[in-house]
Amino acid sequence: MPDRYAVIGNPVSHSKSPWIHAQFAHACAQDIEYGRIEAPLDGFAAAVDVFRASGGRGANVTVPFKQEAFRYCASVSERAGEARAVNTLVLDGDAPWGDNTDGIGLLRDLEFNLGFVLKGRSVLVMGAGGAAQGVVPSLRAAGPDRLVVANRTVDKAHALAARFEGTIGCGYADLAGESFDLVVNATSAGLTGELPPLPPARRLFARGALAYDMVYGRDTPFLALARAAQVRSSDGAGMLVEQAAESFLVWRGVRPATRPVLDALRKG
Ligand code: NDP
Repeated sequence: MPDRYAVIGNPVSHSKSPWIHAQFAHACAQDIEYGRIEAPLDGFAAAVDVFRASGGRGANVTVPFKQEAFRYCASVSERAGEARAVNTLVLDGDAPWGDNTDGIGLLRDLEFNLGFVLKGRSVLVMGAGGAAQGVVPSLRAAGPDRLVVANRTVDKAHALAARFEGTIGCGYADLAGESFDLVVNATSAGLTGELPPLPPARRLFARGALAYDMVYGRDTPFLALARAAQVRSSDGAGMLVEQAAESFLVWRGVRPATRPVLDALRKG
């Protein structure tokens, strides 16, 4: 019997994680099965309980359950503790343990795959949900000159920024006249074809800036905005593959090569 894993979210039908983990398992000769679980919005803990009771050994957690997954765990890794969000559940011990691989996944994609050096740069993160919480600690540790978090619900941006010294929280209206070397869209706005209410793009992106949308596999209004402003852009496919490789390492003790899987994912 293969060891069982799954991605849990709502919605989850679009997730490429089952395909990615199947590639990793094949490349690393690991006997695993990886499925999808769409949990009701008010039924995350119950869905994980059922999966765990039926022998599930681990799970990835996606939108909108990462903070709930943090509360579900009996204990968590240091990076999940900093993020207060969990995207990787280890369920084969006595009690559920949580980790967060989103931050390292984004850093690896930016620095290794896209060749973007964060040290000394100015960075804007849009969003303050589970994904933003996962990446802000890692972005800050990479040594940017300036790190700003903007969110539609401004209180959430302030609360997230307040946890990390030197990080600034604000609303979108406060960004007028500001410029950044890296703008990370960590909102789910692209999933519904929307754009956070940003000030004019020609000011937002500094010369040579990178626009990064965590949403993957579709053209979003934010990527279109970057194209119109003639700045380099990337979707979140690289982060998806890198965070998955880190989860695979946590579960199986082996780190799969990511480049072949990312290339195949981009080819469709
Ligand atoms: P959450 O539901 O926890 O948070 C959603 C965030 O998006 C909130 O900050 C919310 O603002 C904001 N938002 C939603 N709609 C709009 C809008 N129309 N305008 C402005 N802001 C908006 O989701 P997650 O943080 O878990 O995920 C966010 C996105 O990142 C998802 O699309 C997910 O697929 C993607 N992601 C990709 C990963 C990858 O590996 N590529 C990894 C992790 C996430 P408010 O607080 O005001 O509601």
